[in-house]
This record gives sequence, structure tokens and C-alpha cells, in this order.
Amino acid sequence: MQSYDLPAAVPVAFGLGRLNDLGKLAAERLGPEQRLLLVADPFAVSSGLAGRLTQGLEEAGHKAALFSDIASDPREGHIDACAEAARDFGAGAIIALGGGSAMDVGKLAAAIAGAEEGSAAYALSIKPFPGNGLPVIAIPTTSGTGAEMTAVSVFSLADGTKVWAWGLELFPKLALLDPEITASLPAPLTAATGVDALVHAIESMTNCKAHSLNDPPAMRAIGLIRRWLPRAVADGSDLEARGQVQIAACLAGAAIAVNGCAVAHGLGHALGTVGHVHHGRAVGLSLRVALAGNAAATPERHALVAEAFGIERQGRSDAALAAALPAAYDAFLREVGLEISLAGDGLSGADEERLAAACDTPENRPMFEVSCRDFDRAEMERLCRELLTAA
Ligand SMILES: [Zn+2]
Repeated sequence: MQSYDLPAAVPVAFGLGRLNDLGKLAAERLGPEQRLLLVADPFAVSSGLAGRLTQGLEEAGHKAALFSDIASDPREGHIDACAEAARDFGAGAIIALGGGSAMDVGKLAAAIAGAEEGSAAYALSIKPFPGNGLPVIAIPTTSGTGAEMTAVSVFSLADGTKVWAWGLELFPKLALLDPEITASLPAPLTAATGVDALVHAIESMTNCKAHSLNDPPAMRAIGLIRRWLPRAVADGSDLEARGQVQIAACLAGAAIAVNGCAVAHGLGHALGTVGHVHHGRAVGLSLRVALAGNAAATPERHALVAEAFGIERQGRSDAALAAALPAAYDAFLREVGLEISLAGDGLSGADEERLAAACDTPENRPMFEVSCRDFDRAEMERLCRELLTAA
């Protein structure tokens, strides 16, 4: 029998209007009269959200400063500048507000705020964190990455190479989820980020580390996304749907925090590097081409996913149930309006070699290696071909 460790999850505060509690929550978790660096992406600033939170923090007796020099694919320079801003302000904690990028920057900057070296030294877990980092309260404005629940930050080195950092120091002290924040997210982004969460849940349940102890959050996330994401896409102001998708992304984040991702993230990251395709859409399309082979390799695990996705067993074997999953998954991507063809992104079958080479790199190959089946270079190339020519 396989041994397994299930670490404690990040505490979560969820609910409509909970943003107004930020000052109180910060005092409870971190102590009164804190100096807090609010790390917010430019959209959170222009929408007025960052200003509203700063005001709330000040009213609760804290001192707040804002750092918002964040790009959508953050580079080491953004993280190092953020860590410097935290030091200059004398911050006792960081509040990360925004999509995945703001979480990535805020978490990693907090972990290295007291370090001698910059973020590049911690890429690919080459070096452990110094252990004198700052606590983080994570407030996601999208429902997808689940970064509020994970111990990972993704960023790019100065030469453009996409890398990750991992360490228990990157777990936030608190995730604050308020559905109201996500209501202004446009439909295509709602779909792409929701599909990212779905892929997290599926990969955490089907990669080589999958274990029954970690199934419940992932299975629940799959069911919630199947039921509520189409509604959140169709009507962004539907706060019930927004809230359910937000919970799903949080649960899926908790699931990958334990088990990590797999082939769809290896291939999806390569697609992001080669074609600058949005992360959620990239991993969603990548799983679409890998799913039939995955389901055939581990039918029992994929039968669990199929049931969570709402496919009725009707007396069928695990293999038959798992075999029904790829078509249902494809139909779901189309239902939420995810563009399947990459032609509009300027990509075609002619990019196969380039994409396969981007899969077969030190940062992406490990995600193929933890998948539920073996991927040699020929199979990687077949997936790339299918992905680039899909319609
Ligand atoms: Zn993802």
C-alpha cells in the first residue's frame, strides 16, 4: 500500500462582502497595527479595488503601502523590486491582490524579503528559502490558478525562461475569497480560468501521485465547475455561480498543492512559451489532446473523474466510463466558449518541432514524467501535432 502525507490546508475566509473584513482579519491573523504592503495588479488598481482595500486597512489601524509594478507574466525583476519595496516600507506582511501573477509576485517576494539573494536564486528549488520571510494574505480576483492555496510561484528569469519556485514558506497564511471581486471578469477569461481550475482538479486525481486521501477536494471541484462555470460565463453578474466557481478553484488549488500537475501543464506551459496562449486555455486544450491516452492508461482513476464530471455509470465498466470522458470534456470546453483552434493565435502544424522542443526542457519535462503514462519524444510530437491542428 502506498504511503501518503496530506498536509494541512491554508485557512480560507469565504463569502459576499468579506473584503470589508480584511482589516479585522489581518489583525486577527497577524496582530494589530501592522505595516502591510498591498501587492496588486494594475487592473486591481484601476478598478478602484486596491484603493478601497487600502482605505479599509487604514481604518482598521494598519499602515498600508501599494506595489503594483506587475506584468501578466512576471519576471524576476518584478519580484525583486517587490521584495525591495517590502523592505523599504518595513512591511510586516504582504497582501497579494489580483490574478495568478499578483499571487506569484506577492508570495515569492514575501519569502525572499529577508534574503540576501534575488528570486532567480530560488528558481526550480535549487536553494531553500532563508526562513525569515513575511506572511501573506492572498485575495484572488480570478477563479482559476488556485495560487491562494499552493506553495508554488511561477515566474520568468531575465532571459525569458519560465520557471517555478516551491517551498512551504510560499503557503499563504490566509486566503480571502469574495465572489463580488470576480463579477467584472469578462466571459472569455472566466471560461479560461475556470477551465484551468478543472484541469488542476483532473490532473491532481490522475497523475502518478494520485491518492484517495486527496480525491475529495478535487472531485468536488470537478462537479462544481461542470455545474456552475457555464452559468458564470453566460452571466457574469450571477454571484451564486461566481461563488461556486471560486470555491471550486480554491479546492482544486488545495488538490494540486499536494499532488502537483501533469502532462497538460507541461504541454500548456510550452504552448504559453511558444505562442503566448493564455495559461487556462493552453492547459485546457492540452488536456483535450492527452485525455484519451490518459484515460486508457488509468481507467479506474479516470472513471472517478468521469463520475465527478456527471457522466452516469449505467452499469458500465471503469474502462467504458473513462472512455466516455474525452468527448464529454471536449463538449464542455465548447459549451463555455473556449476557442479550440490555435489558428487565430498564429500557430499551425508548422510549429510542431518548436513546440515539442519547448516540452522537452528541464522546466516542462518533469510534468510529463509525473503523468499517468510514459511520454517519449514521439508521443510528445504527436500531442503537439494534434494540438496545433485541432479545430
Ligand atoms: Zn494551471
